[in-house]
Amino acid sequence: MHHLIIGAGPAGVRAAETLRKLDGQAKITLIDGEGEAPYSRMAIPYYLSGKIDEQGTWLHRPVDFYAENAIDLVPGRVASVDAGAKTVTLEDGRSLAYDKLLLASGARAVNPPVEGLDGDLVHHCWTIDDARRIAQLAHEGARVVLMGAGFIGSIILESLVARGADLTVVEIEDRMVPRMLDETAGSMLKRWCEKKGVKVLTSTRIGGVYEGGGELNIALSTGEAIKADLLVVAAGVTPNIECMHGTGVESRSGVVVNSRMETSLPDVWAAGDCAEGCDFSTGDLSTLAIQPVAVEQARVAAQNMAGIATEYHCALPMNVLETLGLITTSFGKHDGLQTGERATALDEEQWRYIRLEFHDGKLIGAQTAGHVNMIGCLRGLIQGRMPLGPWKDILLREPHRVAEAYVDLSRGVS
Ligand SMILES: Cc1cc2nc3c(=O)[nH]c(=O)nc-3n(C[C@H](O)[C@H](O)[C@H](O)COP(=O)(O)OP(=O)(O)OC[C@H]3O[C@@H](n4cnc5c(N)ncnc54)[C@H](O)[C@@H]3O)c2cc1C
Repeated sequence: MHHLIIGAGPAGVRAAETLRKLDGQAKITLIDGEGEAPYSRMAIPYYLSGKIDEQGTWLHRPVDFYAENAIDLVPGRVASVDAGAKTVTLEDGRSLAYDKLLLASGARAVNPPVEGLDGDLVHHCWTIDDARRIAQLAHEGARVVLMGAGFIGSIILESLVARGADLTVVEIEDRMVPRMLDETAGSMLKRWCEKKGVKVLTSTRIGGVYEGGGELNIALSTGEAIKADLLVVAAGVTPNIECMHGTGVESRSGVVVNSRMETSLPDVWAAGDCAEGCDFSTGDLSTLAIQPVAVEQARVAAQNMAGIATEYHCALPMNVLETLGLITTSFGKHDGLQTGERATALDEEQWRYIRLEFHDGKLIGAQTAGHVNMIGCLRGLIQGRMPLGPWKDILLREPHRVAEAYVDLSRGVS
């Protein structure tokens, strides 16, 4: 039996480990598209802020873990898949046959249509190689512009500040992390960052980037221009599914999977940022591009590849972000339903905000800023679809009593 895995990120590596544990004899090939020791992108911010070295980003230390576990780590990028012949062809022309295939090719950062994003002083912060280039340019006092204050942008922000950069964030929407936080929480995060010395320009678009004399001149939609030593682009990602083109696999933005992480093709599974599976909060398909989802999907895919029927229950959209010390979170249907009810509580002075979304006597979504002690409870109430009973009216009046509600409902008292 030959298991072939495309992509050696967290999903691919978890699948390889799981397959090896389940089957000591199978041949396992892990195709490593970056030619690096397999690493975790999540660790890049810690590398950039100097908390860990490059080896600290590796998924396994030492790197010969793969050889010791008879996992064949093959550098190269898969150009195409022939699902009928059960072969993959690499960009260098090599062809490999498989019995079972896992697509774990993740996603990549993309550029918005803005002139001048191809220069040497402009980088994404997606790969370890991007991080090396950023580390060279983002030194103490360097003028750095960050394009995009989404989830990834706001994670990187902290490391750029830790490097001592003079940072300006430019966000096209009217607040920070607009897909995760509402106007109140996103604006609170902006004020928090400004208080910590970061310039944050919201409702502002970068119109063009011009390099000259060793610096960048960045034109803004406001008519102003900023000079910078480095522009970091964090303005969106797209799943890496080009190698599946022509196979007929069902796909939307990612490759569609069912609860066993099977694609529409026989003997082909997908997991991680390249896969589009069930979203707990809507029941629809979506890509939830976070590492815990990627590795759990990969474990489930590997179990099924090894013949052990395993289901992946819909993923709960959940983001926890720490930005210069302020923790913001969002869970489930955090923007609520039109037919639902909502409770909010804001304490501007203490940098605290909570918003709860209810439907049908249950909590279906939440957002918080500055509350660290209720993360597990919010997750438990939403993911457990716990009927709130009388707690619904209490939480509508006093949303900060979430932990109490969770403890009470967990013992079935209410
Ligand atoms: C800076 C940063 C910070 C992050 N922080 C967090 C965080 O705090 N929490 C969190 O949950 N998530 C975080 N994420 C997201 C998280 O890293 C991803 O969800 C996770 O990496 C997904 O794992 P994956 O294995 O599906 O994909 P990837 O990690 O993208 O791995 C896929 C691999 O496949 C390779 N590949 C692609 N195409 C091919 C091909 N054709 N042939 C061969 N190989 C190929 C890619 O080069 C890559 O090496 C962060 C991401 C970044 C960039």
